[in-house]
Amino acid sequence: MRLIFLGPPGAGKGTQAESICKDYNIVQLSTGDILRANRKHGTELGRKAQSFMDAGELVPDQIIIDMIKEELKKPELVNGYILDGFPRTVPQAEALGNLLTDMGQKLDTVLVLEVPSEELVQRLTARRTCRTCGKSYHLIYNPPKKDGVCDLDGGELYQRDDDKEEPIRNRLKVYENQTKPLIEYYTAKNLADNINGLGKIDEIYSNIKQVLDRYK
Ligand code: AMP
Repeated sequence: MRLIFLGPPGAGKGTQAESICKDYNIVQLSTGDILRANRKHGTELGRKAQSFMDAGELVPDQIIIDMIKEELKKPELVNGYILDGFPRTVPQAEALGNLLTDMGQKLDTVLVLEVPSEELVQRLTARRTCRTCGKSYHLIYNPPKKDGVCDLDGGELYQRDDDKEEPIRNRLKVYENQTKPLIEYYTAKNLADNINGLGKIDEIYSNIKQVLDRYK
């Protein structure tokens, strides 16, 4: 199964992708996670991406396209994948289309997770992320078992620099202007399934499952 997960920052893509990957035996490819790992390890890619990320701006298309081209070659993706946070612009979507054609692959669907913007600021400011594995929590709706500590690996939970008020507003603006047009782009290709992203995490997941079971 090959999927794209589209939706604004804070919609819950990462959290839902975790369950999807377990149940459908596919791999989550999050461009944000890959970039953060590169920053942590001080790579050239990480250094190039840093200032854009901290300001809540998009990293330039060509950098992201080159990165995803390498990622898509990885053998662990044979069973399928869910792209989380990519594509984020029309040129990225077009580049992805070309890459998939070259590889003889087709997308099953684009899941569009819909959450109103008033809810997103509240969700993002309450988000905490594990420094070690990148798993995210919500302080109220999805808290860790022990304050400040990741359930999975005991890593320290921190607030991402771009999960603070000013960068959040910028990220939401960037989403409206640059990423939202992709909903129309994929709808026109008959490749979009809309999911209501409001409600309990497991209720949202059961709606996702209903859609995905059509593509098994
Ligand atoms: P995320 O974890 O998906 O919210 O991504 C965090 C940040 O990484 C974004 O605000 C961008 O600066 C950068 N980023 C992640 N994915 C992309 C992408 N597909 N295109 C451009 N920038 C990206």
